[in-house]
Amino acid sequence: MSDTKTYNGSCFCGAVQFTVTGEPAAMGYCHCESCRHWSAGPVNAFSLWQPDAVKVTQGEDKIGTYHKTPNSYRKWCQSCGGHIFSEHPGMGLTDVYAAVIPDLQFKPAVHVNYQETRLRIKDGLPKLKDFPKEMGGSGVILEE
Ligand SMILES: [Zn+2]
Ligand SMILES: [Zn+2]
Repeated sequence: MSDTKTYNGSCFCGAVQFTVTGEPAAMGYCHCESCRHWSAGPVNAFSLWQPDAVKVTQGEDKIGTYHKTPNSYRKWCQSCGGHIFSEHPGMGLTDVYAAVIPDLQFKPAVHVNYQETRLRIKDGLPKLKDFPKEMGGSGVILEE
């Protein structure tokens, strides 16, 4: 058998349960206005996964979806309002918020959209102005 890891996640109240399997494609922090405004926090700790790595195991009917743009379909629990994950169809990846999968060891590698930051973080990781070049961004690195 494979040693593929599975991590359990849930919304704030636990009505929605899900698993993510394997390893994330990327982990880091996003400082963009959309992440800050929707999360009501200063920064979003993201982990990006192949969409089929994410499986809802309970409470599918409780999941609400909102999309302001076609880039991000934001999912939350309609019972507690807790955020779960966002699908990014253009990127072909799903952002499972690191905070909702506590078993996953969060190993951030990059900060994105740092030009919009409201919380400077001096952790020595690269601070991208927007997105990496391979994801359609400028790839420009800013000062911490
Ligand atoms: Zn909930
Ligand atoms: Zn963002």
